[in-house]
Amino acid sequence: MNDALAALTARARACRICVEAPLGGPLPHEPRPVLVPSSSARILIAGQAPGTRVHASGVPFTDPSGDRLRDWLGVDAATFYDPAHFAILPMGFCFPGLDAKGSDLPPRRECAPAWRAPLMALMPQIDLVLAIGVYAQAWHLGNKRKSSLTETVMDWRALWTSDARPRVLPLPHPSWRNSGWLKRHPWFENDFLPFLKREIAIRISGDLGKADPESPLS
Ligand code: SF4
Repeated sequence: MNDALAALTARARACRICVEAPLGGPLPHEPRPVLVPSSSARILIAGQAPGTRVHASGVPFTDPSGDRLRDWLGVDAATFYDPAHFAILPMGFCFPGLDAKGSDLPPRRECAPAWRAPLMALMPQIDLVLAIGVYAQAWHLGNKRKSSLTETVMDWRALWTSDARPRVLPLPHPSWRNSGWLKRHPWFENDFLPFLKREIAIRISGDLGKADPESPLS
């Protein structure tokens, strides 16, 4: 990691905005930002926010969602956690807490405005963003996002062939809660995931010459 990115990462890891200057109620626990910036990774995983297990481990995607995500990407844990290959920046770096039903709260809204643009500016080598869930899709796709997550993910071919850089591919969250969504949308596993695995493999091998800039229908 270069010096500027290392310095900004250190500041983000020491961040206390959500307890000292929150927008609304403060974070109900000590901040524990979980992020993996990188000066060399081609791929950015733009997730949602840590859950309870990741809050405890301090390592992103150390949970069943991570297992499913690695399966989607076609990579093992060693590759996934190698910052030479993947940078990981959730939309909220800290576990936001649980709602009354025991579900994870949304990412803290203080986080992205404070950290995301400066971190992205120091990672210009990123050429593929995997935008997981509506919060990451809103930030990384802006007005290219459709009115629902399903419509946005279904639009992946058009997003791939757009002029926007870095390229952004939208994904649903790999949580078990989305197993029903996956069953209702078999095209995701049949069409989208083979393409995604191929583009991930190309970037990990460093052989970007094999990437097809035009057609997602290989
Ligand atoms: S969620 Fe983000 S803004 Fe809030 S304390 Fe954690 S790092 Fe800081």
